[in-house]
Amino acid sequence: MSFETRLFINGDYVRGQGPALAAHEPATGKVLADVASADRAQVDAAVTSAHAAFAKWGQTTPKERSLALMRIADAIEAHSHSLADVESANAGKPWRYVQAGELANVADVFRFFGTAARNVPGIAANGFRSNRHTSMMRRDPLGVIASIAPWNYPLLMAAWKIAPAIAAGNTVVIKPSENTPLSLLLLASILAEFLPAGVVNVICGDGPEVGQSLITHPLVRMISLTGDVRTGRAVLKAAAGESIKRTHLELGGKAPVIVCADADLDSLVETLREASFYNAGQDCTAACRILVDKSIEQEVTDKLSTMIGSLVYGAPERDDVEFGPLITGAQRDRVAGFVERARGDGADIVAGGNAVSGQGYFYEPTLVSAPIQSEIVQKEVFGPVLTITAFDEPGTAVEWSNASEYGLASSVWSRNSVQAMNIANALQYGVTWVNTHGVFATEMPHGGMRNSGYGSDLSMQSLMDYTQIRHIMIAS
Ligand code: NAD
Repeated sequence: MSFETRLFINGDYVRGQGPALAAHEPATGKVLADVASADRAQVDAAVTSAHAAFAKWGQTTPKERSLALMRIADAIEAHSHSLADVESANAGKPWRYVQAGELANVADVFRFFGTAARNVPGIAANGFRSNRHTSMMRRDPLGVIASIAPWNYPLLMAAWKIAPAIAAGNTVVIKPSENTPLSLLLLASILAEFLPAGVVNVICGDGPEVGQSLITHPLVRMISLTGDVRTGRAVLKAAAGESIKRTHLELGGKAPVIVCADADLDSLVETLREASFYNAGQDCTAACRILVDKSIEQEVTDKLSTMIGSLVYGAPERDDVEFGPLITGAQRDRVAGFVERARGDGADIVAGGNAVSGQGYFYEPTLVSAPIQSEIVQKEVFGPVLTITAFDEPGTAVEWSNASEYGLASSVWSRNSVQAMNIANALQYGVTWVNTHGVFATEMPHGGMRNSGYGSDLSMQSLMDYTQIRHIMIAS
């Protein structure tokens, strides 16, 4: 397989002038390609080109932008095999899930924002001070958006950022993760077919150098990050510099799964098969923290152990695998460290608990029974690791959940709809599922609270986040 390794600036592919970073294949540990980073002058060139392109793109009609997004969606579907080849190799994801699932979602996100561009709500016109002072509200684009993406869903997270931003009339400079730059560099050739030069630019490199010089650039009006809490803090600092910038932060998660005594346990376990282990658990919404009614703790533990024993993981090109390796050796060691410390603290490792020997960065699907205050129950592990902790009554589970530093995703399992609704309403989380987990709708907002950040991805709400509301008053 050959890979595009050049940056995409002002409508052209150009060689990076900074240090080369290796993009690996996590399933084997081999280097797929060396990608030269952008140097400072290239970061500046990308932002300057986005700034220049905004002068025209910001003036296009919603219909023109909508058409471009619709065509991009069609082209993504037409190229889904080649995009899936690159994404699967570089991110270690089972090919069939990427091609049929994630890329379908990527196309859907462009299509949704193509529609949304033409349906911006909230425009009012009336006379409020007197009938001779007509007020109206407009929603206008902001300008250049600096987008910083993570490695766990390289193309999908890029779509969540690019599509609403350009649908609203902004222009974008996006930096993929240094671990997974290859699929977005390929996608750039598709974007180039339907967008004027400079509307979307892709630059590569690490966070501290390239990312930092992008987010501190004076012409950047908004920073949109999906990443770690630590990186979120760096973005907030950058946004408080000489030029104040709007921020949109999608940070980590540690999703509680509250299982009441009357829950349908077969449905729970079948759902967690995917909701906990898809993408090897490297997912900010992964169902990773099971809080279970004490009366059914043993039964749930046994059922989860059996399910975990039947999970199939391995090389992403295999047709039967449910998940692949972790992204890097460092990430696998990080996961192993959490489990080792839990073992040392007296937690019970019910299933799994070991790195897999041989090539690639695989880790066994793992179930750990641990008390609520344990590090492994409180911190984001970002791996195929589930914890289980028993509660005496559901109110305690809600209290524990709301005390978490994170507030992104959560779920409640009960056959009693009143009980489920009461718990869902009491949870302070951006999303709460009832009797399911991890099911996304492009029409619905996705975002967090507390250290999970703020701002919404997906939905009309996201389009709003990428616009500025303005008041215009005309005296007659
Ligand atoms: P990360 O924060 O280490 O990296 C994310 C991106 O930020 C990368 O492109 C990186 O190069 C860049 N970056 C790092 N430091 C920077 C700096 N100082 N300035 C500018 N850019 C910088 O996160 P990651 O390890 O790639 O991704 C995993 C994290 O992302 C997890 O915590 C996960 O929960 C979170 N995540 C959240 C969501 C969500 O919707 N809330 C979705 C996916 C992932």
